[in-house]
Amino acid sequence: MGWDFETDPDFQAELDWIDWFVRAEVQPVDMLVSNARDVRDPLRAELIPPLQAKVRERGLWACHLGPELGGLGYGQLRLALMNEILGRSHTAPVVFGCQSPDSGNAEILARFGTDVLRKRYLEPLVDGRIVSAFSMTEPQGGSDPTQFVTRAELHGDEWVINGEKWFSSHARYASFLIVLAVTEPDAGPHRRQSMFVVPADTPGITIVRNVAVAGQDAESGAHAYIRYEDVRVPADHLLGGRGQGFAVAQTRLGGGRIHHAMRTVGLVREAFAMMCERALSRVTKGEPLARKQLVQAMIADSWIEIEQFRLLVLRTAWRIDRYNDYERVRADISAVKAAMPKVLHDVAARALQIHGSLGVSNEMPFGAWVLESFQMGLADGATEIHKTNLARSLLAEYQPAAGLFPSGHLPARRAAAREQFAARIERAVHAG
Ligand SMILES: Cc1cc2nc3c(=O)[nH]c(=O)nc-3n(C[C@H](O)[C@H](O)[C@H](O)COP(=O)(O)OP(=O)(O)OC[C@H]3O[C@@H](n4cnc5c(N)ncnc54)[C@H](O)[C@@H]3O)c2cc1C
Repeated sequence: MGWDFETDPDFQAELDWIDWFVRAEVQPVDMLVSNARDVRDPLRAELIPPLQAKVRERGLWACHLGPELGGLGYGQLRLALMNEILGRSHTAPVVFGCQSPDSGNAEILARFGTDVLRKRYLEPLVDGRIVSAFSMTEPQGGSDPTQFVTRAELHGDEWVINGEKWFSSHARYASFLIVLAVTEPDAGPHRRQSMFVVPADTPGITIVRNVAVAGQDAESGAHAYIRYEDVRVPADHLLGGRGQGFAVAQTRLGGGRIHHAMRTVGLVREAFAMMCERALSRVTKGEPLARKQLVQAMIADSWIEIEQFRLLVLRTAWRIDRYNDYERVRADISAVKAAMPKVLHDVAARALQIHGSLGVSNEMPFGAWVLESFQMGLADGATEIHKTNLARSLLAEYQPAAGLFPSGHLPARRAAAREQFAARIERAVHAG
């Protein structure tokens, strides 16, 4: 059985190398470096650049980028098969130059930045020399961007930004932030905000605190609560035009969501492999756990759920390649995004259960993965919102029933069928 999904032999050779490299050289670094984006960590500086050099040498650096930015222009389907492997390691995306939020921020800069901005920020970002943050959510509003109140006003040839942002991940290490702010207060709800590039050392930016998620120590908090007070950026640091911020944000989140999902496949497979190994080795009442039918059910359910999710991801990747239009696959991406936390939660929770007290301890990763599933259900949009988007777009393909009864009403269908085949029914009755 396994996870077989055939691809062309040349690309399979690359996948085999990635598989070996991640297992042998990158996953061990996960045990030593807790945040590979922390460019100031001396151990990170020692361990990660040599791995990045090997990826570059192999020609696999920043594969998600189009050829115009030095990438290979791999389609999403190939990226999916590749990211499945990278998902086993939290360090691997940094080693391969495709970590969030930098990959999405690079996408925005490439599409909407001026030549000067691209030179100053995009090039070092794509090269892995700097990292960035995305600063959109506010303390009083996350899911509903119309509640954001951070303002940017044009004073001469500078924008002046004031407000607070919440959960701007990795801002503490970032060289620049991409910030959403209200510039057109009188416009319609989705045309009020604009997107800016803000260098992290601009006066007036204060990190109030770096918030850690449950289960992490406070010191390692990666999600910045930021205050912007009279932060001045040049007029050309606006991305995509006045009032276009919301539209720009949407283009960015499309790619990130699907890549995250691709990597989640790899992560849940790790949990699955651990679950199977333990079920085969732990003996109780004279036989391994693997012989207990309730444990077998957990293993079967997990494999089915992982493969169902994976096929949804692969189909979405295929549709992105086919239409090259994120708007057209928005509902597919919402489906993937809504399914992702559930599959991680359910498989990690079963792996935890099968490992018993060891599973619940912090000597195994399962508790952290279960908690991570809740983060996944929020970052890049809450599950409920993605389900709502999906349902809305699915319902748009259907019509309300024309009459009093629904079109599936059996008596009406039988009557229609009788009418359609009246002559033959008549013949059959006479023949009988
Ligand atoms: C790990 C992590 C990293 C993040 N990184 C970033 C980042 O780098 N930059 C950034 O700007 N933001 C970031 N965020 C914030 C993220 O975008 C928000 O958490 C998300 O938009 C939800 O907003 P909220 O947390 O304020 O929840 P709320 O909007 O308060 O929603 C709370 C809950 O209410 C329910 N709900 C909300 N709206 C609806 C609805 N319309 N219908 C039904 N139910 C609803 C959902 O259950 C939801 O979980 C990150 C979040 C996490 C967890």
